[in-house]
Amino acid sequence: MAASEFDLISRYFKRPVASDMLGVGDDCALFTVTPGNQVATSMDLLLEHQHFFSDVDPVRLGHKSLAVNLSDLAAMGAKPIACLLGLALPRVDDPWLQGFSDGFHALAKQSLCPLIGGDTTRSSRDIAISVTVFGAVNPDVALKRSAGEPGDDVWVSGVFGAPDVAYRMLAGLIPMQEEILRQTRAALEMPLPRLELGRAIAGHARAAIDISDGLLQDLGHILEESGVGTRIDESLVPVHQALSGLSEDIRRHAVLCGGDLYELCFTAPPSEREKMVSISHRLGLPLTRIGELTSIPGLQLMNAQGHAVIPPGGGFDHFRDA
Ligand code: ADP
Ligand code: MG
Repeated sequence: MAASEFDLISRYFKRPVASDMLGVGDDCALFTVTPGNQVATSMDLLLEHQHFFSDVDPVRLGHKSLAVNLSDLAAMGAKPIACLLGLALPRVDDPWLQGFSDGFHALAKQSLCPLIGGDTTRSSRDIAISVTVFGAVNPDVALKRSAGEPGDDVWVSGVFGAPDVAYRMLAGLIPMQEEILRQTRAALEMPLPRLELGRAIAGHARAAIDISDGLLQDLGHILEESGVGTRIDESLVPVHQALSGLSEDIRRHAVLCGGDLYELCFTAPPSEREKMVSISHRLGLPLTRIGELTSIPGLQLMNAQGHAVIPPGGGFDHFRDA
């Protein structure tokens, strides 16, 4: 592209990196991998209108673009190494780029995941953001979706429902309640990747996944890949306090099917319960046992009385009709 492209890259995206790395500015970036580890890598694509509202705070968007990828590293128990950023922009909007890069670099610094390269191009209309992360993980303890076993406890981190409620209010899908939006919006726009948790449970947990498309749908991937079923007590899933004034339908949908959460759902043998409690205390993060894996295929959802209940319809699937 034009000379201004290089100015833009060096102003907003080039930052100093560790001495054993080569960052922005050459044909490739270079980084070192600790012997015995494998590289964990993942990529996410965020499209304007599809994945974010055009008027979202660019600082928050920069944060979230990286956060959703770091969340994938967290779900494997991997430690971040570095990331790449692909950007398609309809125009050079300096205040937007300043905010976006500030939000991106702040999380990159906090997570020790420096931006070491990428690509920048003009788009005809919408903004597209693609981030690729690289992490390191000992293959013996990597948390794979396929590693769950019957009898494992099913655990979740954090509290549920806030991002779905904020999204559905902003999209006009449920009635706007300003006070509830105020309390839930940060969960949608500034998710915190659970990197410390992922690394703490690696070696203790078996299967793990980060919740991007809804608890039931994402847990479904563990069931499928592990060839197991599950029994979940719906009343044990921790609910964000801001949801208490909402109807049961909206709350159930948000908690069980709401996406964009980026908490971890993982399985571990019952012998690891004390370990999980101590990790929860150390990280100051709630870890809750919501059920167990079974050898009977499928999902059994129970209420507090131990009766089977029907799950609300679906998580989030971009290719689903209607
Ligand atoms: P090439 O032509 O070799 O692909 P580019 O001209 O596209 O290189 O990019 C120049 C340098 O700037 C490269 O090191 C590339 O990784 C980096 N870069 C380009 N866009 C971005 C971006 N959005 N974020 C970080 N680095 C970027
Ligand atoms: Mg080149």
